[in-house]
Amino acid sequence: MKYYSTNRRCPAVDLKTAVLQGLAPDGGLYMPEQLLVLRREFWTNWKEKSFAELSLEVLTPWLGDSVPGDELGIMVEDAFNFDVPLCQIEERVNVLELFGGPTCAFKDFAARLMARLVRYFVQQENHRLTILVATSGDTGSAVASGFLGVPDIDVVILYPRGKVSDIQERQLCGMGGNVAALRVEGTFDDCQALVKQAFVDQEIQAKRPLGSANSINIARLLPQMCYYFWAMARLGGKQPVVVSVPSGNFGNLTAGLMAQRMGLPVDRFVAATNNNDAVPRFLMTGEYKPLPSKATISNAMDVGNPSNFVRMLELFDHDAKAMAKVLSGYSFSDDATQSAIGDVFGRSGYVLDPHGAVGYLGLKTELQKRPDTVGIFLETAHPAKFAAVVEPCIGQAVEAPARLAQYLELEPKSTSLANDFQALKTFLLSS
Ligand SMILES: *Cc1c(COP(=O)(O)O)cnc(C)c1O
Repeated sequence: MKYYSTNRRCPAVDLKTAVLQGLAPDGGLYMPEQLLVLRREFWTNWKEKSFAELSLEVLTPWLGDSVPGDELGIMVEDAFNFDVPLCQIEERVNVLELFGGPTCAFKDFAARLMARLVRYFVQQENHRLTILVATSGDTGSAVASGFLGVPDIDVVILYPRGKVSDIQERQLCGMGGNVAALRVEGTFDDCQALVKQAFVDQEIQAKRPLGSANSINIARLLPQMCYYFWAMARLGGKQPVVVSVPSGNFGNLTAGLMAQRMGLPVDRFVAATNNNDAVPRFLMTGEYKPLPSKATISNAMDVGNPSNFVRMLELFDHDAKAMAKVLSGYSFSDDATQSAIGDVFGRSGYVLDPHGAVGYLGLKTELQKRPDTVGIFLETAHPAKFAAVVEPCIGQAVEAPARLAQYLELEPKSTSLANDFQALKTFLLSS
């Protein structure tokens, strides 16, 4: 499998090159040249497979010619070593809980598999690699946790000062070791712009080769296909299925759309966003007008100009109508999100986090229009990660799982960075 750049101004490359480069040299994002459909035999017993077995089958077509099957099998088992429950919380409403990993957010799936892949590829090279990553909250900690202590790899995280939750900041800044955290005087979009600029800077790349662990990296995207298959296998009914994905940078949803192309029988997807609604507006009007990001209570989705949108366009040959045939988009205010957290808790006792609540609202909106369907929404973080938002909505405390509580003990250590490329360059070349 070769991966081409969405800007089409550089040659297609193999998986290893795409993963180690992150962003293509022409500034585009890598996409697979073909969209592979699973063999017919896959479907005979897919519902009996374990999460790791299913994942290995789903990933082999994309990764199999770059990583030997037994190696890939070990990576997948190792990376996906936690439960992924699908629970029904209301009639026709199922939640896929994706927060079972060490940092309690769905990004653990991709970050953990990616860390193993990158380590495998870096071992074949003879230089160190610095993983440079911008985060709106959860990416940084998942990536830091995935790469912590991996030999020959350093991690540098940029996050917007004052725009991540307390526990997120402790997770980002408390790892130490080969992980450095930079708090930037700016927004997430500023952090992302700084990172993108660093990748195309020849001097930095020559002196300190950089890799990316943002969802621009194809290695972040591919692992996220697996749990869509898992969820559909658990549901097992005959009704059409709608899957609602709370979205920011749209890597998660893009992976779902790719799973659908592989043959997964999802009827329809919902792009559910907070007030950062460039994609829902596009689906409505056919015009893409990104705006600066706005701060909301679902901060991991505060993305004004989602980087994976171009990948979604590629999947549909830049045809807005074709995209709207399988994808609906809705955005929800903070007020609506808070009410949903309270209402769902009151009705079923289920505690949503603010991101999952946006996904829930998106699903409910779509289900109303499609009475013959059942739905799944993705719960992308544990509510205890956003206790300050969730607790007032439900009127009681949310207990943090032990793996999350341990971070509260950590003293956050980070370095302040001006929102200025030269400052980042100086840091990278001198530390
Ligand atoms: C990153 C994140 C999202 C958004 O995922 P994208 O792939 O960027 O759309 C949603 N919820 C949580 C909790 C996240 O950390």
